[in-house]
Amino acid sequence: MSSFKKGGMYIISSPSGAGKTTLVKKISKNKNFSISISHTTRKPRPNEKNGKDYFFVSKNQFKKLIKKKEFLEHAKVFDNYYGSSKKQVNQKLENGKNIIFDIDWQGTKQIRNKKLNYKLLTIFILPPSKSELFKRLVKRENRNMKTVKKRMKSFKKDLSRWKDYDMVVINDDLIKCYNKIKKAINSKSKKDLFDLDFIKRHVKTLSV
Ligand code: ADP
Ligand code: 5GP
Repeated sequence: MSSFKKGGMYIISSPSGAGKTTLVKKISKNKNFSISISHTTRKPRPNEKNGKDYFFVSKNQFKKLIKKKEFLEHAKVFDNYYGSSKKQVNQKLENGKNIIFDIDWQGTKQIRNKKLNYKLLTIFILPPSKSELFKRLVKRENRNMKTVKKRMKSFKKDLSRWKDYDMVVINDDLIKCYNKIKKAINSKSKKDLFDLDFIKRHVKTLSV
């Protein structure tokens, strides 16, 4: 019998543009699932709303929150600071909710090391190809090529983190990818959540 408390933590990470935010939003529509809304010093994108997508704060405000130990984890990603609110997450977990995190590998490592008394499943999303990733970034960033280039540049480094995760899944067809994640969330075991050899081969094609 599991000694974990009722709520669970589900972390989704990926190289930028692979589709984790889209997937996180889709999963959060399920009953009893809730997104951990991060704080960030990044400027909002045109369709993003404060308090819904992120809590947008200044660098000074962010530093104050670090000092007050308000973050469960925090990290610097692409020149900006990002962090998950301890209070928000604890409250939801205590109420038996499942929390989904859209965070990077640094935050994932920090949460894993905390060894909290809640179920934890970490999922890494891969794009079907580098050219498809580029297309998705161009579309999302409204052709802001400076941002696209910065994110493509860090792709190889971000990709290398797949080995740290319990499950790795390719986001080619969104619905198929979502269904695989849903199955893993409902699974009692972390074993056999993905085909390791297949993923290794796919990562090789993405690395060239
Ligand atoms: P991330 O959060 O990993 O940076 P997003 O969820 O913002 O990525 O997705 C990047 C872009 O790709 C968005 O415009 C999104 O609508 C699109 N997208 C996500 N998944 C798919 C998919 N399976 N097929 C096509 N486009 C997708
Ligand atoms: P974006 O600017 O595209 O929304 O996010 C950039 C990166 O920051 C993504 O890899 C995203 O997962 C990560 N990120 C978002 N929120 C957090 C957070 O609270 N903590 C950490 N460590 N990373 C985050």
